[in-house]
Amino acid sequence: MNSPVLPRSADASKAHEGLSEGVRRFLSEPRKLLIGGKWMAAASGKTFEVVNPANGRVVATVAEADKTDVDLAVAAADKAFTSGPWPKMTPSERAKIVWRIGDLLMKHADELAELEAVDNGKPFTYAKAVDVAVSAETFYYMAGWATKLEGSTLPLSYNLAPGTAYHAYTMRCPVGVVGQIIPWNFPLLMAAWKLAPALAAGNTIVLKPAEETPLSALRLGEILQEAGVPDGVVNIVTGFGETAGAAIVANKTVRKVAFTGSTEVGKIIVRAAADDLKRVSLELGGKSPNIILDDADLEQAIPGAANAIFFNSGQMCTAGSRLFVQEGVYEQVIEGIAAIAKQLKVGPGLDPSSQIGPLVSDVQFQRVTGYLRSGAEQGAKAACGGQRWGKEGYFVEPTLLVDVNSEMKVYREEIFGPVVSAVRFKDVDEELIRQANDTIYGLAAGLWTRDLAKAHQISSKLDAGSVWVNTYNVLDPALPFGGFKQSGWGREQGHAVFEHYTELKSVCMAYPAQ
Ligand code: ADP
Repeated sequence: MNSPVLPRSADASKAHEGLSEGVRRFLSEPRKLLIGGKWMAAASGKTFEVVNPANGRVVATVAEADKTDVDLAVAAADKAFTSGPWPKMTPSERAKIVWRIGDLLMKHADELAELEAVDNGKPFTYAKAVDVAVSAETFYYMAGWATKLEGSTLPLSYNLAPGTAYHAYTMRCPVGVVGQIIPWNFPLLMAAWKLAPALAAGNTIVLKPAEETPLSALRLGEILQEAGVPDGVVNIVTGFGETAGAAIVANKTVRKVAFTGSTEVGKIIVRAAADDLKRVSLELGGKSPNIILDDADLEQAIPGAANAIFFNSGQMCTAGSRLFVQEGVYEQVIEGIAAIAKQLKVGPGLDPSSQIGPLVSDVQFQRVTGYLRSGAEQGAKAACGGQRWGKEGYFVEPTLLVDVNSEMKVYREEIFGPVVSAVRFKDVDEELIRQANDTIYGLAAGLWTRDLAKAHQISSKLDAGSVWVNTYNVLDPALPFGGFKQSGWGREQGHAVFEHYTELKSVCMAYPAQ
């Protein structure tokens, strides 16, 4: 779809109301693809519109990449990997560039947070304090690894050639051209999670942001250039999943695909990548249990459980969307969470007082309100919320569902909205663990208790890549993150992520024994 800038509303100033001068300027030009260090229109000339989910207004147009553009981007990444300045750099030179990206993110924090607010819809205040700040921390943390990706020396025992000795060692090599496909819920942060370790390890990259939220990644592209990332090392292609995304997975030069998104698309990617056995890492959906025991400190547990589901309007793969509350504190917890939900300030991302923004798009709005209808039809009751909020934009009230049973769709399926299903339980026993683990997912879990023994016993039995005790959603760059079961393959963050972005090579040299 070819479209001029801001076609739906001739009044661009309305769509850009409340934005700083620099961001207005950034949005008033059609944004282009970053390929081989140059900003270029899609070969087809196509563009698509970016909509502010708080009011449905078009805030920008961006280039719509397809296979032709993706193949060009992969060729640029390949050239940068084999013959550009990147492979010749020392680890320390790479580390300094990766660190500088973090500094520049902080320098441009306001601008990036504004972009997230009008693109994804999230509150500016959180975008700045969480998305931008944690993105910067991710680059700082990963910069440190560039100089520490070591191998080992290995004593060999098996010797077919008497008189020969061996010197054997391992080394970690970059994988090569990496394709990275990211979702819309944390646009900048997901780009940081993907790019920072891949760069630290010396790979080159083709990154595709989600079509709903391409803006901060494009601004990040400019920042990467300012930080000194050589041409072609990071290429950014905006476009749709079935075209641009699929073209990345299909390209034979791409050696590895890192994907964050839905479980459904994760499976499509695995099938497509099987053709040439690309390395694939996947961070997919979740339906995480959050368990509150009778002995929990409710002053922590109640706001903690509310935040576990309502933060980012519930658009988080780790959202604590199945709440298990022990019967002694059930009423108090339900009342407490409902009271918090009613006080949360829902509103547009650019309003500094907003705590809950809109859902990202009309598609998500239809999906989440569809789940609310399904819950009501199947007999769930809303202790709070349950409706659309306001008259424009894609807002949904923070919702706590009770009278839920395990057959209901709202209990079983990932909603990706501010909707939590609460279930009462009697005893801390195997049945509680069975219920908590009774899902196809295994991404995260929460537990609130003062009993140290129970905390250890339960944590060890939960099928989840991350377990948070008396806290929730702690996603530090040092902590490995990823899922059991259908929540994904592999771990991001921490040094575990370098399993994805390096190949381990064994080198064995023979020399005459004395
Ligand atoms: P959601 O359901 O949360 O919108 P998706 O899994 O559909 O998430 O999308 C996450 C990312 O995957 C986006 O960047 C999207 O463009 C991309 N994508 C969607 N379909 C495909 C596909 N068939 N191949 C590659 N990438 C895809």
